Amino acid sequence: MSDYDLIIVGAGPAGQSLAARLAQAPLRIALIDREPKAALAAPAYDGREIALTQTSIARLKQLGAWEHLAETEIAPLARAEVLNGESPYALSFADQSRNGALGALVPNSAIRRALFQTIAGQDNCDLHAGGAAAIESIDAQSARVRLADGALLKGKMVVAADTRFSALRKSQGISAHMLDFGRTMLVCRVHHAKPHHGIATEWFAHGQTIAMLPLNGDQSSFILTLRACAMQELAALSDEDFAREVERRTKGRWGEIALASTRHTYPLVAVYASRFAGQRFALIGDAAVGMHPVTAHGFNFGLRSAYALGDEIVRALKVSDDIADTRRLACYERGHRRATLPLYTATNAIARLYSDERPLARVARTAGLRLMNLTPGARRLVEVSLRH
Ligand SMILES: Cc1cc2nc3c(=O)[nH]c(=O)nc-3n(C[C@H](O)[C@H](O)[C@H](O)COP(=O)(O)OP(=O)(O)OC[C@H]3O[C@@H](n4cnc5c(N)ncnc54)[C@H](O)[C@@H]3O)c2cc1C
Repeated sequence: MSDYDLIIVGAGPAGQSLAARLAQAPLRIALIDREPKAALAAPAYDGREIALTQTSIARLKQLGAWEHLAETEIAPLARAEVLNGESPYALSFADQSRNGALGALVPNSAIRRALFQTIAGQDNCDLHAGGAAAIESIDAQSARVRLADGALLKGKMVVAADTRFSALRKSQGISAHMLDFGRTMLVCRVHHAKPHHGIATEWFAHGQTIAMLPLNGDQSSFILTLRACAMQELAALSDEDFAREVERRTKGRWGEIALASTRHTYPLVAVYASRFAGQRFALIGDAAVGMHPVTAHGFNFGLRSAYALGDEIVRALKVSDDIADTRRLACYERGHRRATLPLYTATNAIARLYSDERPLARVARTAGLRLMNLTPGARRLVEVSLRH
């Protein structure tokens, strides 16, 4: 049996961020992922372009991950606009405080690779890749995690960073609020003839939601949300037919379109765990809060959770050697809930309102956009949330 202080299950962006946050801590860390090491070191493009807030960019810089990104992988985000149906009326967001960018778009695969490069050189972290792990037991003194090859790891605390459908969360009897939107999201890169001027556009149209996120050059991340059955037909189109379909659906707003990447689809299910901590156990990333992507906060919250839990562990180490101190874990849980629950609830409400085709809902969202534009305080609130 191998002895560790901290066992992190899931080496996705959240799990890797926690390991990197604790690089200087006097701990022995085990980081486990079911994916093989080669796939973690060079993650395949998965269609997701992550809109990072300024706070997340600062955190990735602190972790040393930002420096592993190529300049061409970072696309600044100047402004965001929300459109409703056929109306030319747009709700617009910009970073008023610094006159700079709202944030930046970086491919999820590049973030994962950069974080992997950061932890690869980390002395206090062992990577166990290529097999799923499960919690064998947790008691007042320690936790035990079984690897797929039968090996047993012992630690003072286990952290679940194992996706929004976390098997570890379930195994510890922690329930979760789950909201299945019955929609599928398709993501890919497209070239377009007309420039995007660095503006992200979210367009709630009849029966579909489209987002175009500006990348470097005349490329954007095209994001389409449809009912799951309608998406199947679209995903089956040839690349050429698909590009024509994008032109048709975007009504020529970005000119002629050509597909610039593989296409990827994701079922839309939002998840919020009822607790983020238990005895010698904590949840971070999507395992704690799995957001609907429409407000682009999933990884931003995941990084926040890795930082917040990491901070509590460092504080605990200053006064005792028990990193799983229950008061510290409760503090993490309270803080992360406060930071995420309002936006989780608002995001779900927005996603439902803007996919509701009933006449009253259409009127409500037009009114909502105008009200938001006319109320500087409300718009400011969103702009501040986009930074954090
Ligand atoms: C289309 C789309 C667009 C998005 N856009 C944005 C955006 O603009 N901004 C933003 O902030 N967020 C965005 N997100 C959300 C973001 O991608 C996720 O929040 C983030 O990837 C979650 O990271 P994670 O590490 O918690 O989980 P994951 O990325 O799901 O990683 C979990 C890891 O755990 C491993 N694992 C699972 N079970 C086990 C096990 N039993 N044993 C060992 N390993 C295990 C998996 O192999 C995986 O590597 C988007 C998501 C989607 C789908």
